[in-house]
Amino acid sequence: MTDCIFCKIAKKETATHLLYEDELVVAFDDLHAKAPIHTLIIPKLHIETINNIIPQQESLVGHLFTVASILASTLNIAENGYRVVMNCNQHGGQAVYHIHLHLLGGKQLSWPPGC
Ligand code: 5GP
Ligand code: ZN
Repeated sequence: MTDCIFCKIAKKETATHLLYEDELVVAFDDLHAKAPIHTLIIPKLHIETINNIIPQQESLVGHLFTVASILASTLNIAENGYRVVMNCNQHGGQAVYHIHLHLLGGKQLSWPPGC
């Protein structure tokens, strides 16, 4: 997807600093952080929404959680705790249509979020 900002970030076509990269995913800080730690973990593959995930991509999607856990340790929020969130479509609050896992932490998060 040529006009997808997250594809551009994954292809390093922007100046975004990557906190993590492997063959499948990249992670970087959210532009408008909602918590002291607010990192986005995205697959390099363009998948629009959760609704578009196919069974063959289960391990890729699972890998987003593995990387969230690695980053939580690296960023020192694993022990206190954190939240991972993936929004879907308009009611879910999705703004960028390339799936991404939000990793939020570094403070006491409220619950439920934005109901
Ligand atoms: P969504 O609402 O789709 O779940 O979350 C999209 C997130 O992407 C938002 O938190 C927004 O701040 C972040 N975002 C949008 N555009 C950019 C960008 O160009 N760079 C970075 N680092 N984050 C972005
Ligand atoms: Zn994309």
